[in-house]
Amino acid sequence: MVRSDVGNSFTESPVLPGGTVGIIGGGQLARMMALAARRMGYRIAVLDPSADASGSELAHEWVQGGLDDVAAAKKLAALSDVVTVDTEHVPASLLAALMDITCVRPAPRVLEVVQDRWAQRTFLSEHEFPQPRVLRVDTAADGRAVAEAIGVPCIVKTRRSGYDGKGQVRVERAEDFAQGIAPLAGAPAVAEEFVPFDREISVVLARAVDGEIRTYPIAHNEHRRHVLHTTVVPATLPDAVADEAIRIASGIAHALDHVGVMAVEMFVVNGEKLLVNEIAPRTHNSGHYTFGACATSQFEQHVRAICGLTLGDTTLHSPVAMINLLGDLWNDGPPDWRPILAHPAARLHLYEKKKAYPGRKMGHILVQHQDPEQARQEAESLLEQLK
Ligand code: AMP
Repeated sequence: MVRSDVGNSFTESPVLPGGTVGIIGGGQLARMMALAARRMGYRIAVLDPSADASGSELAHEWVQGGLDDVAAAKKLAALSDVVTVDTEHVPASLLAALMDITCVRPAPRVLEVVQDRWAQRTFLSEHEFPQPRVLRVDTAADGRAVAEAIGVPCIVKTRRSGYDGKGQVRVERAEDFAQGIAPLAGAPAVAEEFVPFDREISVVLARAVDGEIRTYPIAHNEHRRHVLHTTVVPATLPDAVADEAIRIASGIAHALDHVGVMAVEMFVVNGEKLLVNEIAPRTHNSGHYTFGACATSQFEQHVRAICGLTLGDTTLHSPVAMINLLGDLWNDGPPDWRPILAHPAARLHLYEKKKAYPGRKMGHILVQHQDPEQARQEAESLLEQLK
């Protein structure tokens, strides 16, 4: 079996409860990972600029520093038996600098491939995973040719640091290309064909140190203004399409030699064709439903994988809908939570972020129901009552 972290000498025995999990980045993913890990008796160290970040607050040790602060990251590594990330935007070179100090999962190479959209697209095409037509955009000057090759409309995305639709624009006509991408301020980018998808799905899975993969039920995701709005599980898909989605996602995790949780977002076109939109080598918003609706949450699963433990059972207890709570709901102060708290099948998750602003992910709700569509409707209705 290929080891994901050859060359790293800290990988021989599992990290057991009592050991310390170091997390680079103190967002909500770090927070929920900390909740799961602390329940199991692990200690948590978080690197983040802020002591009152969502994830820092639940850490035993907080190390102050930005995601690119190598000295601070080395301090974190010295406190940790294993180091992981809550965002793929941690520089791969920073992770590589920690390999002599402690065990690092996922490996720097995984981030190197994923954090640059062009490297990610090249990796996918080299391994023949299906994806939208895509070209590199180095200057606006060659835009017209790019748009003609890809077709219009097309979506232009910065190669680095984009998330939730940030750093991307839609170009309607080849002749408008230069003007259309002006908001990207000359950043290296990729242009993708605009995919007329029927729906968006994601496969959340975990890959263990020994290469074992466990997948969660496929999630059906709806985005609004480029931000995830709802996830409904299980997604209703023909068996052959679901099997193919799992084959693609598992193939990607193996090809990257990933260790930990990974989400692969895909478009479904004409009911059957799958195209990979994006790989996230970490716990993922579309896997939040697992934290309440599955035997093992994605957060516990990530801890299990990076600590070298056996992966947990991914069984779904009941169909479920997840709906994100964005900062817009806080325009007039915190919403009144009573309608959600009064609903026996609804679970409220808040990330305790100190500032709310439009589009910021502040929390989410889960609603379980035997009928997934009913779960979605009830989640939407609870959201309406918060407005
Ligand atoms: P991303 O940040 O790349 O995941 O994009 C955010 C959302 O924008 C996706 O979930 C889609 O809803 C939409 N989107 C991104 N790329 C494309 C594309 N090539 N064609 C159509 N819609 C897209």
